Amino acid sequence: MRFDIITLFPELIEPYLSAGVTRRAFAGGAVTVRLWPLRDHADGHYRRVDDRPFGGGPGMVMMAEPLYRCWRAIRVDRGLDAVRAPGAPVDVPTVLFSPAGERLTHAVVARYAAADAPGAILVCGRYEGVDQRFIDACVDAQISLGDFVLSGGEIAAVALLDAVARLQPGVLGDAASAEQDSFNPAVDGLLDCPHYTRPEVWEGPHGPAGVPPVLLSGHHGQIASWRRAQRLLATARARPDLLAEARARGVVTPADER
Ligand code: SAM
Repeated sequence: MRFDIITLFPELIEPYLSAGVTRRAFAGGAVTVRLWPLRDHADGHYRRVDDRPFGGGPGMVMMAEPLYRCWRAIRVDRGLDAVRAPGAPVDVPTVLFSPAGERLTHAVVARYAAADAPGAILVCGRYEGVDQRFIDACVDAQISLGDFVLSGGEIAAVALLDAVARLQPGVLGDAASAEQDSFNPAVDGLLDCPHYTRPEVWEGPHGPAGVPPVLLSGHHGQIASWRRAQRLLATARARPDLLAEARARGVVTPADER
């Protein structure tokens, strides 16, 4: 799958692509990323991409025209029609990062990470945001990282890329690893269980701290039961909404919780 990113700050995204476990997805071609510096598509000596808001008020607004030019260049580069005909099905979705978007969840990530997904054109806003006319004409979906305001969409783009990359086959050392993570349907959408590693006894600030004995037992069935119980407990404590959803789907039963 291929992600094209329209940004004023490609240098914020670039280092991330060559670091950590997810670099395998980017270097190996499972996830192709192309960065499109928006100023390359702006006019004039100053390559202006923003202007004052009509109606007054603070801040600047990203102009529709440079965004539109960049967006068309990406579509042509991808072998698509420069402009999609009105009403035509979405070929490659254009996604704007915005506080007004759908919250980024595992389900959203899984949609973009699917083997047959085409990737997306990602638009990173800056300043007060993007001229609404570009959004109306070219944007298919909006994604939010949460109920807070970032200075720009680049961190949101990296968050989406990272989450998509680690779901690609062969990217994590152990194929089952992503399936054991929080929110994954393989663990019924529950939170993760606690993890421990050596030493068996850690001399912490409140005295010696051990490891739950079951984890040292070598008994795989009992370890799996303990982890399941811990997932249920952690979810009940921190995210009762997720537990309620799992109960409603019938994947967590009263017998599970006993
Ligand atoms: N005026 C906008 C508002 O009040 O909703 C905030 C604009 S913000 C300073 C600039 C850009 O950062 C946005 O256009 C968007 O691309 C990105 N951004 C800010 N918060 C975000 C969030 N929670 N999730 C995703 N992107 C966000």
